[in-house]
Amino acid sequence: MKDKVIIITGASSGIGAATARLLASKGAKVVLGARREDKLKALAEEIRAAGGEAIWQTLDVTKQAENDAIVKLATETYGRIDVIFLNAGIMPSSPLSALKTDDWHEMVDINIKGVLNGVAAVLPAFVAQKSGHVIATSSVAGLKAYPAAAVYGGTKFFVRDFMEILRMESAMEGTNIRTATIYPAAINTELLHTISEPGTAAGMAALYEQVGITPDRIANVVAFAIEQPADTNVSELTVGPTVQA
Ligand code: NDP
Repeated sequence: MKDKVIIITGASSGIGAATARLLASKGAKVVLGARREDKLKALAEEIRAAGGEAIWQTLDVTKQAENDAIVKLATETYGRIDVIFLNAGIMPSSPLSALKTDDWHEMVDINIKGVLNGVAAVLPAFVAQKSGHVIATSSVAGLKAYPAAAVYGGTKFFVRDFMEILRMESAMEGTNIRTATIYPAAINTELLHTISEPGTAAGMAALYEQVGITPDRIANVVAFAIEQPADTNVSELTVGPTVQA
């Protein structure tokens, strides 16, 4: 981990922030991206105060130019990029009959197109240096269907398929790029704040209150994937509360 340059999207809260803290504490140079400037600034200061290395830049993953800009910042500051953790996401779940079509489109833009934009930004550098590690946050909703998660789950199924094909093509092309897809279950973060449909919000809040675990648990498995030898690819990890059925 020491001195690895790691871009983290969705670093302003939850899983992204917890992962930034852990990886920086292990010696990584973390590059933090998300929309909320105040949160990124505070986290970078916290990491530096603890002796770690962190820089940040505001990032809306739906905009290709902003993904390109954070990759440029990382490269110009540290000379290379070792890992990108494509973690930014929202979960405004609802039954389809609620017709929350704005939410549907926003999930496609952030959870799918955000991943595409991040990969498009970093892939040329990874191919040129013949190494790199793409890690993405899918969800257990990307492994099986859940009512009220048709669109959210669909975006996370996409991430699974896309990451597996990136892994296969990278192996076939000999670029030494590793991939890891993380499938979290109930993790207590700000994610539930993105739900706008009252019935779904209440149901999810009750579930998370009962079983949710802290986001550092996901940080641990991200670190595990990175810390394997370069010839070893941990492609998929499902992580959730022991008590969640
Ligand atoms: P949080 O809401 O705490 O974090 C989401 C992060 O994504 C924030 O940092 C947010 O920052 C960022 N984000 C949202 N939209 C954008 C955007 N357009 N551009 C850049 N950043 C954006 O929730 P989590 O930590 O839980 O979520 C992280 C990932 O984990 C998501 O992909 C989520 O789907 C996934 N996940 C979470 C689970 C859970 O139970 N918590 C379960 C399964 C998967 P900002 O608003 O500042 O831009």
